[in-house]
This record gives sequence, structure tokens and C-alpha cells, in this order.
Amino acid sequence: MKRGIVVKSTGSWYWVRLEEGNMVQCRIRGKFRMEGIRTTNPLAVGDEVELEEGSEGYVITAIGKRRNYIIRRSTNLSKESHIIAANVDLALLVVTVNHPVTSTVFIDRFLVTAEAYNIPAVLVFNKTDLYDAEDQAMLGGLTVIYRKIGYPCYAVSAETGEHVDEIRSLLKDKITVLSGLSGVGKSSLVNCIEPGLDLKTAGISDAHDSGKHTTTFAEMFPLKQGGFIIDTPGLRSFGIIDLKKEELSHFFPEIFAKSGECRFYNCTHTHEPGCAVLEAVEQDEISESRYVSYLSMMEESGKYR
Ligand code: GDP
Ligand code: ZN
Repeated sequence: MKRGIVVKSTGSWYWVRLEEGNMVQCRIRGKFRMEGIRTTNPLAVGDEVELEEGSEGYVITAIGKRRNYIIRRSTNLSKESHIIAANVDLALLVVTVNHPVTSTVFIDRFLVTAEAYNIPAVLVFNKTDLYDAEDQAMLGGLTVIYRKIGYPCYAVSAETGEHVDEIRSLLKDKITVLSGLSGVGKSSLVNCIEPGLDLKTAGISDAHDSGKHTTTFAEMFPLKQGGFIIDTPGLRSFGIIDLKKEELSHFFPEIFAKSGECRFYNCTHTHEPGCAVLEAVEQDEISESRYVSYLSMMEESGKYR
């Protein structure tokens, strides 16, 4: 018996990197079902598997317990989900204050999703070489907001290479999901971290995913220093979780921390008297932009059900 990690799949074939480092292509034996959810694919990149070598090559015989997983819910009626990746150590959002502008609502949605998946998240502000004084001030303000609530922030330039070494060390030996709006510099950043690694050659393609039967698969790219990067274009592939209104506040750490002090145990923090969250927003203890994101997500929640 050997152990390895799934780095690529086509649905019927899996590429597994064995512990000793070499890559083998294999099939799966038996049925693997997840409890509680129906999925279109039994295995995803990041899955830790056991293999046996048979007459027709390697066969996957068992899957390790997942520490977490990212899913995309199908838009069809079957209500099946597609597992995009498993055992993710880090969710990295590449953000730009300008060229293009990444909105705080977009950032907060990503962070909420990461919280719901139970994956630690960091923000990487890219293109600092292009920032003027106003952009710099914005960067400073956002960094204060997000660090205060526990999300590490980095400011880099994939163009000049400034501070990219910090990101390189951050990714060492981890499975990292990289996300961000198109044009923020994800490919450039990855290329700066590891020259020659080109995410554009593969990865999931949103364009071809009509949500019908065409399933696209993520691919993990191994880093020479150890660790893997999974590229997910945009937020959609990171998976928008359909959160219930009542549980949304659990994924805003600073709102959740305050909610115990609200007068009503079932406070929605929108209009109630004696709401400690509203009070904290008023006092500037909770950032207004975060609260705006909370309200906009509250309004949307349930829409996909
Ligand atoms: P992606 O869509 O997120 O993968 O973005 P790309 O890596 O393709 O970058 C989009 C554009 O921004 C390209 O023209 C890059 O050369 C440019 N770019 C990326 N990072 C930086 C940066 O740090 N500074 C500057 N000035 N341009 C950058
Ligand atoms: Zn409240």
C-alpha cells in the first residue's frame, strides 16, 4: 500500500503524487460517498489517498478524512455539488486597491466563504507600484480594518517583486487556493513566486462551465519549495455557500464577538433595540464597510435556495 495526494483529475482518471515524490495516473476502486451531501465527483485535488498497485497500474482504494473542502453547488436540479478541492490550508485573495478596484463587499464575501469552509484566509494587496497617495491611504485603511479582525494583510508588487518573498514563505508546504478578480495579477504573482509556473495553461475554466453537465476540474500546481497552488478564477469557483440568514453573523468574526451582548438572543443586528453590533458600528469599533457587507449579504441570503 502507498499513500499520495490527488493533484489532478479528469473525472475518471486521477493523477496522484506519491509520498516519495513521483506522479502516477490511476483509477478508483469501489464507491466513495460523502455523508450528508451528494457530489458529482468522489475525489478532488487535495484528497489524501491510499493506493495499491495492480496488474493495470495503480488503483485508489481509500480516501483520508477531509479537514475541509470547497464545493460548488450545481445549478441544475439534481442538487449535487462538485467538490473543487479538499484539505486546503490557506485561502489567499489577491486584491487591488486600484487597477482594477476590488470592492470591500467582494473581499468580505470571500472572507465569509473562507470562514464557512473553515479555511484560514489572507489578503494580498498587489500592484503597490502603481498606487498614488490616495491609493496608499486606502491600502493603509483597509489593512487596519482587516488586521484588527484577524486577517493577515500583505502589500506586494508582482511587477517589481517587492515583498513577494513574504508570500513565497507563506505558501511553503501548504495547499493554497488563490483567488481574486480577473486582472489583479494572480498569474503574475505566481510567476514571481515561481518563475515558469503558468496558471493560465490549466486550472478551472469558468467560461466552459455552463452549469449543465460539463464539469471542469481544478488542478494543483506543485511548488519547488513544497506546497501546492490551486487557481480559482474569481469568487464563483471558490464557491458561494448558501448561508442561512441566522448563521451569517457567525462568519463575521467581529460581529459574532459582539452579538453575545445584544439584548435579544436572536438579534439580526439590523434594527433591534439594544443591539450591541449596531452600537459598535456607531462607535467605529466595527468598520462601517464590513457592516455594509453584512447587510448586503443578509439581503441576498436564501436567494439561491
Ligand atoms: P490575473 O488575471 O489575476 O491572472 O492577472 P495577470 O497576472 O494576468 O495581470 C493582469 C495585468 O496586470 C498584466 O498586464 C500584468 O502585467 C499586470 N500586473 C500584475 N501585477 C502587477 C503589479 O504588481 N504591478 C503592475 N504595475 N502591474 C501588474
Ligand atoms: Zn444585535
